[in-house]
Amino acid sequence: MIRRVVTTLTGLLLIAFIAAAVVWLITAAVNKNRKDEPDNPPIAEQSGETAQAEEQQPVTEEVTQTDPEAPPASPPEEMQTVTVTEADIGKGILILVNRQHPYSFTSDYELIDLFTFKSSSYKFRDTGMMFAPFAGEKLNEMLVDFHNRTGNHIINIISAYRDIDTQQRIYDSKLKYYNGDVETTEKWVAVPGSSEHHTGLAVDLGLYDDNGESYDYDGKGEYAWINENCWKYGFIVRYDSAKTDLTGIAYEPWHFRYLGLPHAEIIASTTYCYEEYIDYLKSFPQSGQHLFFTSYTGERYEIFYVPSEGKETKIELPKDCEYFISGNNVDGFIVTVTLNGDS
Ligand SMILES: [Zn+2]
Repeated sequence: MIRRVVTTLTGLLLIAFIAAAVVWLITAAVNKNRKDEPDNPPIAEQSGETAQAEEQQPVTEEVTQTDPEAPPASPPEEMQTVTVTEADIGKGILILVNRQHPYSFTSDYELIDLFTFKSSSYKFRDTGMMFAPFAGEKLNEMLVDFHNRTGNHIINIISAYRDIDTQQRIYDSKLKYYNGDVETTEKWVAVPGSSEHHTGLAVDLGLYDDNGESYDYDGKGEYAWINENCWKYGFIVRYDSAKTDLTGIAYEPWHFRYLGLPHAEIIASTTYCYEEYIDYLKSFPQSGQHLFFTSYTGERYEIFYVPSEGKETKIELPKDCEYFISGNNVDGFIVTVTLNGDS
């Protein structure tokens, strides 16, 4: 009887020992796997907020993936070829429009009346001010956010889309105002055909108070929030005081141009004006190193430039990826690919 108890106890102890050994082995294996995980995410995973914190730095170091230690690229993806034409150079939301690169009036988006967004948060000079709908949505969001922060409701949208006749009228009246001084006139009013307002992607803000008085919008004081944060809504302050030699237009704190994300955000993290940004993107050709950028929204993007090859240009893209192609209105195309979180 005692012997049987001893045998049973020995058996139980043996089982307990084996169980403990198994638990130890599993724990050790899990810990080892943990150690194999990197402590810090790679540079490309860092958020756009980091890039914003180090403002006014050239953007290359922060947004390109050049880590030689990076694991080898995943196996070649299935590709697709997208063909664009010479006329497409003048189409898309990223086109550069200035004196040297007039608008082609061939945009492929319909415009809507900004009054669609009618709101008590801000004002409209008039009904019938037309704008690209996706940009209008973001403009409305920005102005409502501004109103919610400050209670200020006197921002007045004074100009959006202009056709060429309207631009001509504005030009002629300014020329008269400056007594025929063409040089001064053209610092303030774009030559008809070369105004960003033709695109339906540019808007001018003014102020109109409750006493019916109008004021210039200067982007200062509480309005500085708009000029500093407009990139989050996809807009840039297009005509900077330090860049008048390159843009050909005087400082206009009231003129905002829609480019969408990530481009407005990348520009805001640099000192580039749009002319310089268009040039900068050419350093990321289809066949070379691409520009990688993580937005403050967490969305990851890959951007590259494809020069026009004449009548038709072929663009190689991973199959089934989310992308958009825009002409640059100079000499080629800008391709923006949205990367999936798990790629
Ligand atoms: Zn304007």
